[in-house]
Amino acid sequence: MTDTLLSDANRRLEKALQYVSIHEDAAERLKHPKASLTVSIPVRMDNGSLRVFQGYRVRYDDSRGPTKGGVRFHPSVTLDEVQSLAFWMTFKCAALNIPFGGAKGGITVNPKELSKFELERLSRGYVDAIADFIGPNIDIPAPDVYTNSMIMGWMMDQYNIIHRQITPGVVTGKPIPMGGSLGRETATAMGAFFTIQTILPKLDRSPQNTTVAVQGFGNAGAVIAELLFRAGYKVVAVSDSQGAVYAQQGLDIPSIRKIKESIRGVQAVYCEGSVCSLVDHEVLTNAELLELDVDILIPAALENQITETNAGNIRARYIFEVANGPITSGADAILEAQGIQVFPDILVNAGGVTVSYFEWVQNRSGFYWSLEEVNHRLQEKMTEETERIWSIAQELNCSMRTAAYVHALKRLSGAIEAKGTRDDYL
Ligand code: GLU
Repeated sequence: MTDTLLSDANRRLEKALQYVSIHEDAAERLKHPKASLTVSIPVRMDNGSLRVFQGYRVRYDDSRGPTKGGVRFHPSVTLDEVQSLAFWMTFKCAALNIPFGGAKGGITVNPKELSKFELERLSRGYVDAIADFIGPNIDIPAPDVYTNSMIMGWMMDQYNIIHRQITPGVVTGKPIPMGGSLGRETATAMGAFFTIQTILPKLDRSPQNTTVAVQGFGNAGAVIAELLFRAGYKVVAVSDSQGAVYAQQGLDIPSIRKIKESIRGVQAVYCEGSVCSLVDHEVLTNAELLELDVDILIPAALENQITETNAGNIRARYIFEVANGPITSGADAILEAQGIQVFPDILVNAGGVTVSYFEWVQNRSGFYWSLEEVNHRLQEKMTEETERIWSIAQELNCSMRTAAYVHALKRLSGAIEAKGTRDDYL
């Protein structure tokens, strides 16, 4: 039988269920996505031809509130991938006590091959296709891999056109002038940074004696690399989809970011250059970066990077999952046996959805916060939930991943059970 990403995600749930007792109905419901929509999106290309793209939106569970999650534009997007990403969003929002359920969306496309106008038509076409499935009290999209604030702005605008009213709370991660929140762009990395800073003293480490490798140089990877660099960590390797660079003495992350950003073409939405071509350092493959002998490894790209095939070669002491699902459940066991401690995605990368929640709150109240206020509230939330999950892991003598799932499951089952025994559809 071929394994799906969703069945692998469900193994984490099964594992957590060994440590916490919840009503069997709640456990059963959480194994299945509530609703999955598959759409075809016709797009008029610049050369006059018509191309039809496949798109998806999955609402996994809404017992704790409207569903929430990003939209990914990537050639490898499938329904299975979107369902498992929606599963993770459900547990992430519950672990952080964000009053949202979980959702995710995606379009199977290589956005780097599209012009800016084609990308806009695709983004608007996606909203045309899913307009009845989303809403500020139903399901709220946001950025994810290869989507950004510009795309969120087009999506919100299209929703407004369809509904003939301004609805900023329907999408988060918008441009600031359209109701976006200050600090949303850096929130995923900032949240991860607060988690790492909370954990570090518990590991008897200080930034100065900690080496780090970061896989992925997108919104999350580049910003976390810089935050760690500025806090005194030695970031020895970074990578993007083309490959990695390594320097034993540490890389100058701000200058790598600057150079990478400066070669973005005027019209280009995505950066053309690779970190490999930019600096005078040893070039590695992405696979080699994962196997470096470092203290902290940060996968900040795509899922399924550390599997049963390469888990045995990992030499990092700690892994902080900034990407969603970078380690398979089979690899979890191998890493654990090697004494490698994993800090899970549903905690570490939750800063993004946390500030999305702050954005939604600001949109609904019409009152906007300063950057200091956003970051302060984010720090409070990340620190508080990291401490709680750490205590659960000590108490149950289980991994941080299982502890995070146990923590989330208690909140999820509380909401499901509070609704009583009704089994009809909302
Ligand atoms: N795409 C981000 C994530 O995976 C953020 C989702 C959101 O802000 O709704 O957590």
